[in-house]
Amino acid sequence: MKKKNHKYIFIIGGVMSGVGKGIASSSIGKILQSKGFKVNPIKVDPYLNVDAGNMNPTEHGEVFVLDSGLETDQDMGNYERFLEMDLNDGDYMTSGMIYKYVIEKERNLGYRGKCVEAIPHVTQEILRRIKSASDEHNSDISLIEIGGTIGDYQNILFIEAARTLKIKNPRDVIFIIVSYLPVPGSLGEMKTRPTQNAVRQLNSYGVQPDIIIARGVQLLDHRRKEKIAMACAISPENVISAPDIKSIYDVPINFEKDKIGSIILKAFHLRSNTNGNSLKEWKDFIRKRDKAKKELQIAVVGKYFDTGDFVLSDAYVSVIEAVKFSSYWNEASTKLTWINSKEYEIDPKKISELKKYDGIIVPGGFGESGIEGIIMAIKYARENKIPYLGLCYGMQLAVIEFARNVVGWSDAHTAEINPKSSHLVIDIMPEQKKLLAEEKYGATMRLGAYPAILKKNTIAHNAYDTEEIFERHRHRYEVNPEYIEEIEKNGMIFSGTSPSGKLQEIVELPKSIHPFFLGTQFHPEFKARPLHPHPLFTAFIKACLKNK
Ligand code: GLN
Repeated sequence: MKKKNHKYIFIIGGVMSGVGKGIASSSIGKILQSKGFKVNPIKVDPYLNVDAGNMNPTEHGEVFVLDSGLETDQDMGNYERFLEMDLNDGDYMTSGMIYKYVIEKERNLGYRGKCVEAIPHVTQEILRRIKSASDEHNSDISLIEIGGTIGDYQNILFIEAARTLKIKNPRDVIFIIVSYLPVPGSLGEMKTRPTQNAVRQLNSYGVQPDIIIARGVQLLDHRRKEKIAMACAISPENVISAPDIKSIYDVPINFEKDKIGSIILKAFHLRSNTNGNSLKEWKDFIRKRDKAKKELQIAVVGKYFDTGDFVLSDAYVSVIEAVKFSSYWNEASTKLTWINSKEYEIDPKKISELKKYDGIIVPGGFGESGIEGIIMAIKYARENKIPYLGLCYGMQLAVIEFARNVVGWSDAHTAEINPKSSHLVIDIMPEQKKLLAEEKYGATMRLGAYPAILKKNTIAHNAYDTEEIFERHRHRYEVNPEYIEEIEKNGMIFSGTSPSGKLQEIVELPKSIHPFFLGTQFHPEFKARPLHPHPLFTAFIKACLKNK
């Protein structure tokens, strides 16, 4: 049943992209939760891709996978981590998804002969989805982040949909602009004009913001707050100062310094449902982080690292955050060093640099580039007893390395790279073969959460402390059952399998041989949360601390 007077907050970016709308939305959600409200976040991506699955991570950052298997934008990961929620398909939409639905509905005579138009049919479909997501979560307040920047052509229909919702429910809808205030080097002064222009442009769409979040390298002073307030017709208290800070997890606390929570509640004529104790657990987590004294050095070996620092951290954001959470709860801070595995292919002697690291991670990936270098790094980790964590591709390549160098099948490989190998220890599933032959790439991998059963007295079982787990997948290839017996005989343990026993989900080496060597076919990083670090990452970090 729909609650009466459900509230909607639309969050839009001003001036330029990349100023942290996702973190701002997550943080506002966190604050509203701490005031006793049930929130649901929605991410709108205005591009034409139907989902984020076919996009190169160097192009658009990490593809975040939901339990359902939907491949989405990395902001969905931030929402899940900040808000401690598992999100659903209805919490994400792209223009491609909406248009596809509207066009298919038209083809099926769903509009009963009407001329189907962007306005109102597309905007109505957008609103239908927004409302149904809030129903699904039975929430009090929906936070809808509209991707892109004011002035983009692609997000206009979403802003128009929001405008019509506001017209019909003036007391239940507010707009927040996350804008940017540059400080030109030659002036050393924060400039408000670009933000004023962004607001004017939004006004020209018929929308007036209620709150402006002023991002910038420094605090926004009162004089400039007043200037923005005067030019943009809002009160100075509703201009929130959001300077760059140490970590994204400090943002909710920082926003509260300018009382954004009470300002939102006041705009909605709502009162806080809790008294005090605001963000207590969150602050405990921050305190733990600030206490971290031990320092770990972990090497992340893979590809996608050669497009510059900015992009690589985006491509693996969930892995980075998962490492942070498990480190902080163990009073450690971890420095990740990104190593492009191609360097080891060019200069094999370089591999010994791995000696200086307390642990090695090989994250997920696709394709051929840098693969032999990664296999060299895994061999080094195995032989030199450096804690190793392999995620998806990192698990498959660990099986290949073991098959080549321990079992003795020197040409062991994955069908993804060398389908002619005489030992395809990683192979394609028959249904996948058909999909690829038909060039059906979109949303056709093994995606989303599946159960796995853990073998007793293994690293995996000890870490999870339970027999059945649910973890999220995103892969096309699998350990080939034909070779399992032989690999096992040589000492590798398959410690997690699908309930039928057919699919191998976790591999590891016995503790007697190696302090920590484990690979997962799934992506545990998608389920790591600040307040609930992931047990496998925690076990890995503990092993790294021991290895130090
Ligand atoms: N490329 C591998 C596969 O498709 C691994 C995928 C991944 O690491 N996410 O199975």
